[in-house]
Amino acid sequence: MKYTYQPVIGLEIHVQLATATKIFCSCSTDYIGAEPNTNVCPVCLGLPGALPVLNGKAVELGIKAAMALSCTVKDKTVFHRKNYFYPDLPKAYQISQYDLPLAEGGELFISGDGDTLKRIRITRLHLEEDAGKLVHSAADGRLEGAEFSFVDYNRGGVPLAEIVSEPDLRSPGEAREYVTSLRRLVRYLGVSDGDMERGSMRVDANISLQKTDSATGEILYWGERSEIKNMNSLRAIERALEYEIRRQIGVMEAGGALERETRHWNDGEGTTTSMRSKEAAHDYRYFPDPDLPPIEASPSLLEKVRSSLPEMPWVREMRFRNEYLLPEADAALLAETMPLAEYFESCVRSGASPARVSNWVRTEVLRVLNERSISIDAFPMRPQELGSLVRLVDEQKLSTTAARETFNAMIEKGLSLEKALDASGGVGGKLSGDALADTVRAVLASAPDVVAEILGSKDEKGKKKKFLIGLVMKEARGQADAAVVGELIEKMLNAKP
Ligand SMILES: [Zn+2]
Repeated sequence: MKYTYQPVIGLEIHVQLATATKIFCSCSTDYIGAEPNTNVCPVCLGLPGALPVLNGKAVELGIKAAMALSCTVKDKTVFHRKNYFYPDLPKAYQISQYDLPLAEGGELFISGDGDTLKRIRITRLHLEEDAGKLVHSAADGRLEGAEFSFVDYNRGGVPLAEIVSEPDLRSPGEAREYVTSLRRLVRYLGVSDGDMERGSMRVDANISLQKTDSATGEILYWGERSEIKNMNSLRAIERALEYEIRRQIGVMEAGGALERETRHWNDGEGTTTSMRSKEAAHDYRYFPDPDLPPIEASPSLLEKVRSSLPEMPWVREMRFRNEYLLPEADAALLAETMPLAEYFESCVRSGASPARVSNWVRTEVLRVLNERSISIDAFPMRPQELGSLVRLVDEQKLSTTAARETFNAMIEKGLSLEKALDASGGVGGKLSGDALADTVRAVLASAPDVVAEILGSKDEKGKKKKFLIGLVMKEARGQADAAVVGELIEKMLNAKP
């Protein structure tokens, strides 16, 4: 019998919510690079008697993400204590949500086969606090051969939304697409910066394999699932899942039994290793936190959040394709972040052709952003200015070469569009008449040896004359007619005694 292995993947994603302060106290959430244990207080250090106070902004951001994912936001939800003992959690419990999460039952679309979209169901979205960070380090000279573990509570109490998907993903590529799509969404909403490398978006994957009859599609055997942790990039997610598929197939083909376990992805080695099996699974003894009242999402709060939702990124991408006739990949790139999409559309609104603006933004603008490692918000040229510049090209008042030089002058010298155009000889068409003649004369004067060679009949193939034409065109920033320049050179050389 012929059979295949079908991966079944579900993701649990922790997203750090973009609040200024922690979820239950007023300590700063800006922990990256901060001196360890400086953004702390009795509440997030779990000192006896300290009482948590819920940060309303975290609830709003959670609701915003839930609404954008078409989840049902619960009108009443509760915080639970999830009990476990570990040094990164000084209270010995994490405040999280259990059977009454903030929201349930949503969806997120990824691109499927061809032009169709694939729907991935969202199980739930709940709020919780982050734990502290353990740093393990080798001996520092104080105790020979010893290893030290340090704990930094700056991250403890930072608000997280955990977004759990149904096991609807069928390949590592789909998992990557789902994460990409979710990241774009939270960035659009301003709910999170979605930075995976800095840990503000952390992905855990559940994966099992179905052994199915190739002919009938009947499931012959359903393997036990493993949960993979520690994937810190899109690439790592894809690689870890690919590795895990190979590993699970290997075990099943060898007649072994898979066990339900948590596995750790080692990015350097490209493997996963077992962290703990089902037998060691925690019993968290959840119970409602007596210090926190239930969250009641009032109709007015829901309405306030609903009215703040922007156009969704996938809607915008589709609109870019339909309204501006952009190719799919270009539309996706321009709709990737809200500020870039806004920039592009502002340029278009100033009357420039969408296709040409798309080109300029994707090449010139993104190049500058890359070179300077800045975001579009810090880009020195206003969209109206780029729009006006592109419009000059549309109207054939400026060549592409001249426009690019003007663009560079604006960026490098901080000139306004008008000043940059003045500096490059202005608009209004090609160089002609006396101005062009002066330019040709100056070029001939600057290359007496080439002129001498032409006059000495050493330019049989006309290469040297072409070289001179090139010099003139360069001097005119492309704003001249090469044939006219050729005639002028001919005339001036013939006029020489
Ligand atoms: Zn605190």
